[in-house]
Amino acid sequence: MTKEVIVIGGGLAGSEAAWQVAKRGVDVVLYEMRPLKQTGAHQSGYLAELVCSNSLGSRLPDRASGVLMTEIRCLKSLLLSIAEREAVPAGGALAVDREAFARGVTEQIDTQPHITLIREEVSRIPDGIVIVASGPLTSDKLANELSRITGEEHLYFFDALSPIVETESIDMSVSFRASRYGRGQIAEGDYINCPMNEVEYEAFIDALLGAEKIPLRDFEVAVKTGVRAGPHGYFEGCLPVEVIAERGRKSLAYGPMRPVGLIDPRSGKRPYAVVQLRQDNLIGNLYNIVGFQTNLTYYEQDRVFSLIPGLEEVKFIRYGQMHRNTFINAPRVLLPTLQFCKRTSIIFAGQITGVEGYLGNIATGLYAGWSAARLAHGYDPIIFPQTTMLGSLCHYISHAEPKSFQPMKANFGIMPPLDDGTKRNRRQRSQAYANRSSNDLELFLDEFNN
Ligand SMILES: Cc1cc2nc3c(=O)[nH]c(=O)nc-3n(C[C@H](O)[C@H](O)[C@H](O)COP(=O)(O)OP(=O)(O)OC[C@H]3O[C@@H](n4cnc5c(N)ncnc54)[C@H](O)[C@@H]3O)c2cc1C
Repeated sequence: MTKEVIVIGGGLAGSEAAWQVAKRGVDVVLYEMRPLKQTGAHQSGYLAELVCSNSLGSRLPDRASGVLMTEIRCLKSLLLSIAEREAVPAGGALAVDREAFARGVTEQIDTQPHITLIREEVSRIPDGIVIVASGPLTSDKLANELSRITGEEHLYFFDALSPIVETESIDMSVSFRASRYGRGQIAEGDYINCPMNEVEYEAFIDALLGAEKIPLRDFEVAVKTGVRAGPHGYFEGCLPVEVIAERGRKSLAYGPMRPVGLIDPRSGKRPYAVVQLRQDNLIGNLYNIVGFQTNLTYYEQDRVFSLIPGLEEVKFIRYGQMHRNTFINAPRVLLPTLQFCKRTSIIFAGQITGVEGYLGNIATGLYAGWSAARLAHGYDPIIFPQTTMLGSLCHYISHAEPKSFQPMKANFGIMPPLDDGTKRNRRQRSQAYANRSSNDLELFLDEFNN
């Protein structure tokens, strides 16, 4: 008799995993604690809610996230297909209407006959085939259980969310629509850009550096000084805007506020700096401030961000915030198949494995679901070629240096080098990685299906 699979966590990885198990004819029980118990960052009871940015990354086929996107499209990812259906204009990126996306996933899961969705917090890992996909905001009870079974200390660090504002409250007589280098999907430009001259930029930096932040709680302070938390206790890829400013007055002008590829139609010139806002939902009444993750108090966000030209009267729908991020020490406790080495019927998926980013989380969910279905049918999990981005991510997290392990997102640096002796520039190299991934995945699937 085929066994059932239990999935803990109905986020990006867990929803994809449950779907992949179910479509292979295996029964799944999916546990999700929301809306009964919230995480602090999620706001709804929907499955697969995106907690911060609404972008799943670049969809250009020769970018690292584009390569992963192509792979999981080929592997028939449910979440990617819904994301593409609910896309909003975002230049070369795949950004979605976050509510329509999460609602779409919830409807599919709710109506899949092999999936039983239970709204309950799991505090112990049950027997049998289990996928743990409880994410970076895993509840405390389950985190303690994971500590107990892995025998490893959990790792905490901090990520910050950027604010979401009402489109109507943006002053379009000051800001302008455009995509960098005109590479947009809609003619007038995918982004709303708030231009700054040098004087305005300097005043903004002064206000930002002097603004009051939300004090870190005791356990957060412990983390901040902990060995695994990094010099700031933040994940480098998601630094709060005020922390970037502390690194140097020009850091923001070279970072999230860089003006390259943008011309202010009123002056006909490139501004000194730009704050970009990206559409957050399909109807376009909400925009998020790109790269403006922050830990300022809400009062200070009102005061400081209203110094941005065009945002003087802006209405916040969600203020920026900071949150805990939990992941296991994958190189110590996981096999390259994402199975727990002490009990191989437990498979980890999503951010808790140390794979970073929405798309990577969906991809590991897809893989975990396929593996769990194979276990239920009495087969071993498959291993993807390391020349694919998904194969490289799984290889990386299970082979990295455990003492300094930090989450890793899709990038070409973790793939085996192209050692065919051909000289290539950066773009040609990316294209060659992309071609190799597609060819090898196709060969692998052909072989598997035969
Ligand atoms: C604050 C924050 C901001 C982030 N911003 C971005 C971003 O902008 N872009 C990006 O690419 N990545 C971002 N990430 C990283 C990561 O990509 C996302 O968190 C992503 O949602 C992780 O997917 P997941 O499936 O692993 O976890 P989640 O999507 O969080 O899903 C986990 C689910 O498990 C549930 N759960 C937890 N504990 C239990 C329990 N005991 N029992 C039952 N259910 C439980 C939770 O309610 C949740 O629904 C961010 C992470 C954090 C913490």
